Amino acid sequence: MNNLGIGTWKIGDDKKMENEEIASIHYAIDCGVRLIDTAQMYGNGNSERLISKAIKPYKRDELFLVSKVLPSHAGKDKIYKACEESLKNLNTDYLDLYLLHWRGNYPLSETIECFEELKRMGKIKNWGVSNMDTEDLKEILSISKNCATNQVLYHLGSRGIEYSLKPLMDKNNIYTMAYCPLAQAGKLKSTLLTAKSVNLIAIKHNITPIQVLLCFVLAQKNMIAIPKAAKLEHMKEIIKCKDIKLTSEDLAILESEFPKPNKKLPLDIE
Ligand code: NAP
Repeated sequence: MNNLGIGTWKIGDDKKMENEEIASIHYAIDCGVRLIDTAQMYGNGNSERLISKAIKPYKRDELFLVSKVLPSHAGKDKIYKACEESLKNLNTDYLDLYLLHWRGNYPLSETIECFEELKRMGKIKNWGVSNMDTEDLKEILSISKNCATNQVLYHLGSRGIEYSLKPLMDKNNIYTMAYCPLAQAGKLKSTLLTAKSVNLIAIKHNITPIQVLLCFVLAQKNMIAIPKAAKLEHMKEIIKCKDIKLTSEDLAILESEFPKPNKKLPLDIE
């Protein structure tokens, strides 16, 4: 699978945007994107329902659907119903990947047991987690080696995971799924889009600073990026990044202004 997927947080909430959001998802799939990320939480099922409309013309086995269970539903009394609801919203009979959205009060061992049961039931193909820091992940690894991914915030201006979390994930073949790879178009770090190094690389490749941010994430090993674009013109810009490769020299220039951390930092969460 290629390492560019799409996010869908806040998609499906505004009826007036529906046609454009569907066109944007169609554009991405037609250009080869397979992975679509959503969650039970997003608009209380609005995102999952919008995706179900968008994917109607496509074959199910050509897509890779990811959804997430809320921590408050991640125990054996609630998770099976939550999963059924996500499947119903998405109008599908299985998820390719089901994630625990963040750590809550249910023991991780109970959630993992339920994930394994959902796998046996054929409701999900794989399971993983989200927003788990190094110690959480060590605990997960002590329970099971089947965690497929940890979806965490990662962008050029937030590289904390590179200190100990990502090395641990790489060592255990757990894919990093980078959310907010565009730093929400600079909203999460206002200086990113005007930064000297970012603009230098943008001019060199004749691309936009947002594209530089995404290409930086796509250049990392064992990493899948899930940028979100409700607007078609934004999606077109995102998809172009599939064909843009930053060189090691480009990456060194970015590194000089946005170095990887040399100590453990708290996990960034959005
Ligand atoms: P993001 O992908 O970094 O940024 C999305 C924002 O960037 C949107 O406002 C979008 O605008 C804008 N944008 C996209 N392409 C652009 C372009 N070419 N030019 C200018 N602006 C552009 O942030 P995100 O949506 O927060 O994160 C991505 C996905 O990760 C989410 O959608 C969700 O699926 C997932 N996520 C997961 C968690 C978690 O806890 N696991 C948390 C946050 C997000 P328009 O939409 O208006 O086009």
